[in-house]
Amino acid sequence: MEKYISLLRRGGAAQAAVIDPKTIVTAPWVAFKCQYGCPYYGKNLCCPPHAPAWRETQAMIDCFGTAILFCCPAMEMVNPLALAAAKELFLDGRYKAVALGSGPCLLCESCNVAECRHPGQAIPSMEACGIDVFATARANGMAVETLADKTQPQNCFGLLLVE
Ligand code: SF4
Repeated sequence: MEKYISLLRRGGAAQAAVIDPKTIVTAPWVAFKCQYGCPYYGKNLCCPPHAPAWRETQAMIDCFGTAILFCCPAMEMVNPLALAAAKELFLDGRYKAVALGSGPCLLCESCNVAECRHPGQAIPSMEACGIDVFATARANGMAVETLADKTQPQNCFGLLLVE
């Protein structure tokens, strides 16, 4: 896994570690926060209610024996890095590799919810799929805070599920 940790670090991840998928926390309240608090709810194919609900995500996580959790100082860094690492994992023979990112998919100016324009590049965020990112990060000893000042470095997480 060191190769992929290095790839993430070189790409700008401030934290990256191999974790046990059993430490990934899913919960029903996460999508509620999207529904009543996010302008992208229902307007982005990578966000609820289009994204997998927490039970489905948990069932998917249970298919994996290893995961890599990483954190970047800016949201827009996470998805490209997660995709690059997942591609590398796949090409190395780890064909089940799944990438989850951070925030809504921002590849298009306006999402086409009828049909994705970039199906090979669009990935949902951890939180969109019902993962409690704070609890997951803290369960693995990673620093994560709520930050009011958007000019400061953020703590935006991505996840790779690996077999
Ligand atoms: S790539 Fe475009 S159409 Fe597809 S989910 Fe992202 S924003 Fe929506």
